[in-house]
Amino acid sequence: MSDVTPIAPHGGALVDLVVTGDDADALAAEAANLPKLTLGERELSDLEMLAVGALSPLTGFQGEADYHAVLDSMHLTDGLAWAIPVVLGVSDEDLHRIGGASSVALVAADGAEPLAVLRVGERFARDKAKEAISVYRTDDPEHPGVKALFDAGDTCVAGSLEVLALPAHGDFVNYRLTPAQTRAAFAERGWRTVVGFQTRNPIHRAHEYLQKCALEIVDGLLVHPLMGATKSDDVPPDVRMRCYEALFDGYYPKDRSMIGIFPAAMRYAGPREAIWHAIARKNYGCTHFIVGRDHAGVGSYYGTYDAQRIFEGFAPGELGITPLMFEHSFYCVRCEGMASPKTCPHDDADRVILSGTKVRDMLRNGERPPVEFSRPEVANILIAAMRAEG
Ligand SMILES: [Zn+2]
Repeated sequence: MSDVTPIAPHGGALVDLVVTGDDADALAAEAANLPKLTLGERELSDLEMLAVGALSPLTGFQGEADYHAVLDSMHLTDGLAWAIPVVLGVSDEDLHRIGGASSVALVAADGAEPLAVLRVGERFARDKAKEAISVYRTDDPEHPGVKALFDAGDTCVAGSLEVLALPAHGDFVNYRLTPAQTRAAFAERGWRTVVGFQTRNPIHRAHEYLQKCALEIVDGLLVHPLMGATKSDDVPPDVRMRCYEALFDGYYPKDRSMIGIFPAAMRYAGPREAIWHAIARKNYGCTHFIVGRDHAGVGSYYGTYDAQRIFEGFAPGELGITPLMFEHSFYCVRCEGMASPKTCPHDDADRVILSGTKVRDMLRNGERPPVEFSRPEVANILIAAMRAEG
């Protein structure tokens, strides 16, 4: 139909590493005889992201030069902006087992069939201390991203990937759209501009408001919940998805909004992860990206606005996607509507503001937060989930 020109992927071309047809048969036959490397949950997420082009222009796990370039300068060696290294850390035991193999089959812990073949270009020592400080701004092992880093292998195996199959998922099949699929969906709907919203939480009124503010100035909204590994105390994926569906059913315009799954694992790297998230959403076809306060943060490792300010360090056009910076928002009883400190002149006494801890306590006691804070449909789902949890 359309005169819609989609936004270019990062680096210009959408990467697709999935091999098909006769080539796939040959690759599967080859993979069967290669040394195998079992991937953990996080590496599987990275594999999936790489395979479908969510991490375009990357075509595999990054090598040493790019690794250090990203840590040092938030750019690849070719000058393209990139904020978090995507590497495959391997334990000494695994390293010994694969020996000097030039190709390795990658398998999931729960699957016998190889998912991909890694053409090993190089092996290099992972500088974990440098990576922790560069990416996470801390080497505190209590930080969940730093902990995952320190738990990973000390040697990185790098090289390009040829993918046989995406990691199997039994859930949310209808929402697992690849970047090619979201791009096609946007074009079909005639959306020239699309705002992406990253979330790892149920959506309450405040985030609904940010999304709808953004939607006032663009054609479409992609609510893009991250469904890879998160902290164990985050709300489980199936519960979150039911909340998103309830919200969409009751309150979102169907011709202007859609849900897709972002298969990434959470790093909790705050500012750097905001950049990484934005670039990935560009690959999914988004032209705009919502960056709230403390985006991808955890605990008090990052300043409230660090994840917004970091965008200023890139030249205009370098990222290619427009960040939309938002304040926290709330219902104000005197404004009689949702607002933020940018738009509401009143003080906290007039604003419906609840801490995360307070909300969790209420839900656990079977009590719905005020409708100005949380849609009742969403609150009911969270209360039922907590009850089932016991
Ligand atoms: Zn007000």
